[in-house]
Amino acid sequence: MGTWLATIRFPDGTERYADYSTVVESMCHPLYPEVCRTGEILPSGDECHRDEAVGEPLPYDRGAPISPVDELVLVTVAQQPDDDVWHALYCPSSAMVVGPLSDFYRYALQEDYDLIRDGDGVRHLCRWARSPAVCGAEPAGDRSGLYFPSPGMHWSEETDGPYPESPHAPDLFAEWNAPDVCRPCLLAWLREPEPTAAEEPLREPPSTWWTRVKRSWQG
Ligand SMILES: [Zn+2]
Repeated sequence: MGTWLATIRFPDGTERYADYSTVVESMCHPLYPEVCRTGEILPSGDECHRDEAVGEPLPYDRGAPISPVDELVLVTVAQQPDDDVWHALYCPSSAMVVGPLSDFYRYALQEDYDLIRDGDGVRHLCRWARSPAVCGAEPAGDRSGLYFPSPGMHWSEETDGPYPESPHAPDLFAEWNAPDVCRPCLLAWLREPEPTAAEEPLREPPSTWWTRVKRSWQG
């Protein structure tokens, strides 16, 4: 548990740095322009014992309206200590990473969502593999087979992680620039809270661990 370095890489090669908290399983803001590596000397004068984001925190505006969907920038986030890498969206107007802010998002998507093609071949994100899609479209084509609901709880207390038997969960945001991915679906999934269980009385509660993590981003 604790804080680890997250490295955000932009398409032009620029890197920014941030803290990743294993307490809330989330990359945190602000972003920083520099990194201090293990063995180097921190601005405080102490020796650095774990890679750490340093320098003047970069300004950001949590209240700024989000940039138009086609102006969002696809970045990668690499999280220490294991160098878990996932794709995320950076919003130029707020100067923030919109999300996903954790690699765990891949499992959450797979547990509750599938992709379904519409008549034009565009893949939409559909909760519980059912139309309508998150963006409101009503695709009726083939399912991608992403959907893999875990039995009962979605989080293994034993491993403190997703169920080990879960199939490999893809990094769907890596496909942000693919011509057949519905961007409004992915963005809406990031931005809007999960529906509560009360709205779906026939279903067991959705991934509670994920709901908790996601609320911590959105707070
Ligand atoms: Zn859609």
